[in-house]
Amino acid sequence: MATVETVTRFAPSPNGPLHLGHAFSAIAAYDRARADGGRMLLRIEDIDGVRSRPELADEFRRDLEWLGLEWDEVPAQSTRLESYEDAARRLLQRGLLYPCTCTRKQIAEAKPRVGTDGLVYPGTCKGRKTDPDKPAALRLDMDRAVAEAGDLDWCDELEGEFIAEPRDFGDVVIVRKDEPASYHLAVTLDDSADGVTVVTRGADLFASTDVHRLLQDLLGLPVPEWRHHGLLVDESGGKLAKSRASGALGHGLSERRLAGQDGRALADAMRDGRFPAGISLATP
Ligand code: GLU
Repeated sequence: MATVETVTRFAPSPNGPLHLGHAFSAIAAYDRARADGGRMLLRIEDIDGVRSRPELADEFRRDLEWLGLEWDEVPAQSTRLESYEDAARRLLQRGLLYPCTCTRKQIAEAKPRVGTDGLVYPGTCKGRKTDPDKPAALRLDMDRAVAEAGDLDWCDELEGEFIAEPRDFGDVVIVRKDEPASYHLAVTLDDSADGVTVVTRGADLFASTDVHRLLQDLLGLPVPEWRHHGLLVDESGGKLAKSRASGALGHGLSERRLAGQDGRALADAMRDGRFPAGISLATP
């Protein structure tokens, strides 16, 4: 019987330097792949043209090397725009997306309910003719999408089986006003195109998986497994910030690398649950 190679991924956004939390995530992806003799992919998630700083990608590679990790790099998101446009077109043709010209302010003023991922869009533009001259995002018609897809389950290697509850997200943005995809669409298409078999990422993205599972179904994509790892927190219990300094060395990986710290030793210590001073693994 042919066995499927295990493929995991580390998918950082180049909008700030990598920190210890990223190192933990990359190590988790690498070790999971290696446990099966598989591969970790590196994908630079630079879909956000405004916040992305292209020069950071090289720093990321140096940081990962310093930690003693190996990877295969796949094309960055900015090179995949056509595949996002194509998928969005297909969903639009099936009546699953609708244009939305609302600003953040207008949405907040409509006093929407708060869902899993912040304010739930109140559906103002749904079924309404929008001004074609105004910049529009494309939102998923969640009722329709869920009705088409039916019940969907997915499996997290650490937490078990789940039934997707994407309704908690409301009509999520699939195509942003200023970019040809939202995070949800891009990451779902990319993981499939890259042949990822175990989506390794932080527990802060756990809920988003319900939306990704729905998109996989609507777009006829294969369903991987997921592995959401715990998050590192600082003394105050807060998630590590992209650039915050604390103690003798900050949380930044490049900063530690340039200060001559041993990256492999740091990676091994984190594997054993020994974190730098003030850092711990959040209890779920
Ligand atoms: N690019 C995202 C980040 O840097 C991670 C997305 C994912 O792992 O699905 O936070």
